[in-house]
Amino acid sequence: MEFSSKLIEKAVNEIAQLPGIGKRSALRLVLHLLKQPKEQTTFLSQALTQMRENIQYCTNCHNISDSLVCEICSNTNRDHQVVCVVEDIRDVMAIENTGQYRGIYHVLGGKISPIDGVGPSQLKITTLLEKVKQNQVSEIIFALSATMEGDTTNFYIYKQIAHSNVQISTIARGIAVGDELEYADEVTLGRSILQRVPFEKSFKNN
Ligand SMILES: [Zn+2]
Repeated sequence: MEFSSKLIEKAVNEIAQLPGIGKRSALRLVLHLLKQPKEQTTFLSQALTQMRENIQYCTNCHNISDSLVCEICSNTNRDHQVVCVVEDIRDVMAIENTGQYRGIYHVLGGKISPIDGVGPSQLKITTLLEKVKQNQVSEIIFALSATMEGDTTNFYIYKQIAHSNVQISTIARGIAVGDELEYADEVTLGRSILQRVPFEKSFKNN
């Protein structure tokens, strides 16, 4: 792509680094911004800079947060003994949108995936095991996507806590295999949390 302006070229190249955006789309966005009032670009760049500089990770559940302890973890009306294990903030958002869950979360930050070079030590698993060890948890609910990586991760954690008194369950698979949680509709997802099944049953049936 030939640019007649270095400024445009630089902006396009930056935006085109984002996933799913090619240079053509990036150019369209840049030209759109140029047609808008200048402030819009200022607000956009400020929002991005502030987000990047001020974002924190909850020290309890590792979810992306505006403060050291996220709003969910600091809510005393929630059941802190029930912990739903998810991959990232999108899963938390999807489950929160169902309005059916009153426990807290544990955000792993990914799934075990040897092909991508992601092992257990790169995920936030130790702090979860620690909570179980300290009897802070009565139930663990696995809510990772039904992929091989999700299953591997569930099983890895399960093996570490199977001997404990913690009830271990998994969301009912109303969601088709391979579907990501964020795409499941709210009603289906809400129901699958309410109708969760003991984890052991879920893999013995497979
Ligand atoms: Zn939290």
